[in-house]
Amino acid sequence: MHELALAQAVVDTVAERAGDARVTCVRLEIGKLSGVVVDSIMFCFDLVAEGTPVHGAELEITEPGGRCRCRGCAVEFGCDDPIVLCPGCGGADVAVLSGRQMLITSVEVTLSCAEPAAAPPPTITPWPAGNPPPPGRPPPTARRPTPGRPSPPMAAP
Ligand SMILES: [Zn+2]
Repeated sequence: MHELALAQAVVDTVAERAGDARVTCVRLEIGKLSGVVVDSIMFCFDLVAEGTPVHGAELEITEPGGRCRCRGCAVEFGCDDPIVLCPGCGGADVAVLSGRQMLITSVEVTLSCAEPAAAPPPTITPWPAGNPPPPGRPPPTARRPTPGRPSPPMAAP
């Protein structure tokens, strides 16, 4: 089978939906009649997830059994083998009703909790050089001219 391509498709689909979130768990349903080798999927999944938001996610796979119906005698039966023979008549003309599916049943993500990117350190404005004024006392103000006294007249030219 083409497990690598399937794993790639799963990772692509999940990564596309996940956006900025980091994927922690992916659950797949792979029918037993799909012919997909689950061990192979798991191996390929880790390979193709490298460098994507899916990297490091857990992969859980359930393998539901198949349901088939014989076209010859209309018997319906469960079957876990891709090579299906009717248990009623032994015929091979059997319709597979289910068990070939491969589905992404659920995906768990966690919102990115990485360190805030390059947050600037808090800026501390140093006190201007020189002596700080003592607390509670206003800084000395410039001397004001005494009010009420007219300025001396300008000297006549
Ligand atoms: Zn049959």
